[in-house]
Amino acid sequence: MSGEVFRGNFTQQEPIPEEAIERAVEVLRSGRLHRYNVLPDEAGEVALLEQEFAALAGARYALAVASGGYALGCALRAVGVAHGDAVLTNAFTLAPVPGAIASVGARSIFVGVTEGLVIDLDDLQVKIADSGARVLMLSHMRGHIVDMDALMYICNGAGVTVIEDCAHTMGATWDGVPSGRHGTIACYSTQTYKHINSGEGGLLVTDDDEIAAKAILLSGSYMLYGAHTARPPLDVFEKVKYDTPNVSGRMDHLRAAILRVQLRHLPDQVANWNARYRVVEEGVRDVAGLTLIDRPQQEGFVGSSIQFLLLDWADERIKAVVAACKARGVELKWFGAPDPVAFTSRYDNWRYADPQPLPDSDRVLRAIVDMRLPLTFSLDDCVVIARIIKDEVVRIH
Ligand SMILES: *Cc1c(COP(=O)(O)O)cnc(C)c1O
Repeated sequence: MSGEVFRGNFTQQEPIPEEAIERAVEVLRSGRLHRYNVLPDEAGEVALLEQEFAALAGARYALAVASGGYALGCALRAVGVAHGDAVLTNAFTLAPVPGAIASVGARSIFVGVTEGLVIDLDDLQVKIADSGARVLMLSHMRGHIVDMDALMYICNGAGVTVIEDCAHTMGATWDGVPSGRHGTIACYSTQTYKHINSGEGGLLVTDDDEIAAKAILLSGSYMLYGAHTARPPLDVFEKVKYDTPNVSGRMDHLRAAILRVQLRHLPDQVANWNARYRVVEEGVRDVAGLTLIDRPQQEGFVGSSIQFLLLDWADERIKAVVAACKARGVELKWFGAPDPVAFTSRYDNWRYADPQPLPDSDRVLRAIVDMRLPLTFSLDDCVVIARIIKDEVVRIH
């Protein structure tokens, strides 16, 4: 075993840009942090962020909220999901997704995952027919985008409303269409480990007038919704304003101020992530026993993390790879571990949902190894990281 050790920090993000810090200090000096606390001639940072995000996504309406998970729950309420309803979602996703479904009293119906780490469209068709669910909360987990044309064909044909969880696909595209623009609503996260960083935060976009009005009211606009600029016409609110509860979850000007600056840098950051992704991917290509995830040509992904499969390996050997890499400074997460470490990403970890065996998915889920690619790593760092992974996989296979 080579003695090479990597010394980088896998959870260290880049600093917030100086320009964003200056804007944040201006907001603090103003004392006006609440989104509706604005001067008569002032739009406010939150409304401006919404306008800019809507323009970037090519959506008619946008809403900034307290977290990505909040956006998901808000989306479910806005499309009318009620207590006891079945909602389809991915067997492979992050806990806030089934959590959002549970938060509105609905039931998760899990749809299997393919070796490409996307939702299994054959299983989706079966589950739509079996469950009678009318909503799919589709998670582009770890940035892998399913064939969206095929998915929308299935869902449109079956009258299934699609809510997209774009926590890992802000800045990504499918066949040139921004991720989040196929479904009725898309939700994004601005939590520290996503693509723009405000500590906590979320965004939601839609083209639908009534859904947008409901989402704004749900987020806690009171009767101040007129202050939004990325909103539907006021008469749309008249129809729903007394029937939509306030489930308070607004964003504030401080976070919006630092996000606006970062949003302008997003395309450059996407290029930076993908350069790192490609270096690691090349470094672990053609390693026996290690399966790379195919990236379809239509997928304009954001390589903020990388996954590979150790398919049909014994648990002990996968654990040995993770431990050996860790000893050499490379932090891999084994999503397949029987006892989840740090967070949960598998359907069978969420025991508040009905048990739903998915044997084909289990084989894939058991095999998934994941690694974050923070932009604080250089391309040379990525060469070293890949070399260490390759060494250890070859040694232990
Ligand atoms: C982070 C994440 C969310 C939720 O975002 P928060 O802002 O942390 O609430 C939802 N889905 C996925 C796949 C995520 O990784």
